[in-house]
Amino acid sequence: MNRLNRINKMKRIVIKVGTSTITHANGLLNLTQMESVVRQIADLHNQGYEVILVSSGSIGAGIGKLGLKTRPKTIPEKQVAAAVGQGILIHMYEKLFSEYGKIVAQILITKEDIHHRTRFLHVRNAFFSLLDQGVVPIVNENDAIAVDEIKLGDNDTLSAIVASISEADLLILLSDIEGLCEADPRIQPDAPLIHTVAEISPHIEKLAGGAGSSLGTGGMITKVNAAKIATASGTAMVIVNGSRPGVINEIIRGDDVGTWFQEKQHPLQARKHWIAFGSTPSGVLVIDEGAAKALVLRQKSLLPSGIIQVNQEFREGQIVSVVNQDGQELARGVTNYSSADIDLIKGLNTSEIDGKLGYKAYDEVVHRNNLVIV
Ligand code: GLU
Repeated sequence: MNRLNRINKMKRIVIKVGTSTITHANGLLNLTQMESVVRQIADLHNQGYEVILVSSGSIGAGIGKLGLKTRPKTIPEKQVAAAVGQGILIHMYEKLFSEYGKIVAQILITKEDIHHRTRFLHVRNAFFSLLDQGVVPIVNENDAIAVDEIKLGDNDTLSAIVASISEADLLILLSDIEGLCEADPRIQPDAPLIHTVAEISPHIEKLAGGAGSSLGTGGMITKVNAAKIATASGTAMVIVNGSRPGVINEIIRGDDVGTWFQEKQHPLQARKHWIAFGSTPSGVLVIDEGAAKALVLRQKSLLPSGIIQVNQEFREGQIVSVVNQDGQELARGVTNYSSADIDLIKGLNTSEIDGKLGYKAYDEVVHRNNLVIV
């Protein structure tokens, strides 16, 4: 299938912009570049795509604003630069996106948010809720809080994780290089660009400067690692030069720009692997026939009204097994409510949740995005 055919089937796109694309060498924001990226994203959004922007540049912008002569080295210095710079970054995005009538939201993520199941679920739900409302989430690592030891460290990895969490179809890395080349372009400037990577083979890893290589091809290693995370989750990834005018439009038109990494063929399994097989279910929800049909045949979320019985104790964020009245397992998913709360709201309409519990976190007990039919 060519790129255009693939792109025509896509809906959700994560775009990562690197510091070098949106800041000048002195750390101050490169407004021309930011303007161009924002305009292209706004236009994608107008075409009906859902877009998440992962933007670096907080530390760079902080350095510029604080007038630092060198890049901060100590943890407190980095924290200050990041905290000052993140505000500047988001302020500028808010201003630019507003000009095109778009609403943006800031999401700052730490490693813990991804590794802790309940927090992972909150991040995931936040993305889905924002996208549902037509908002463009702007994501960065929470650099003011995440010190080196507990950091993801680079936004290539972060953007691949975001793409995986949000079940995106495509991850675009806007970089300062054209893509992955057959040799290090700094040594061999005419090294041909690799247009498509169907499989991340040892040869590709070696080109990227992975194990067994003596030469890296310009910061490629984190990008190829990001490609591994993205493609295994069913997300295609493309590396392009972010300073090429109109490059996002070129990708959407199906032009052969940059290096395209093909997604794995069985994305659902890979993507929801951890829900289905990641852990032993902590409890069981017995559901009625109507809910069973809605789940299995119509891929709907599980609402309280269809739940008949709750077995075992569990907390929100844990994996539960969903069974029919014969005890046959139909699905596994991540629950939004604890067993005690579900016991109170089972059989009720969503409008009655608040009155019964005194709060309503979600309409769904298990959202379809967090549910795997087994
Ligand atoms: N989160 C860092 C920043 O905003 C960037 C990390 C990276 O460039 O990969 O400065």
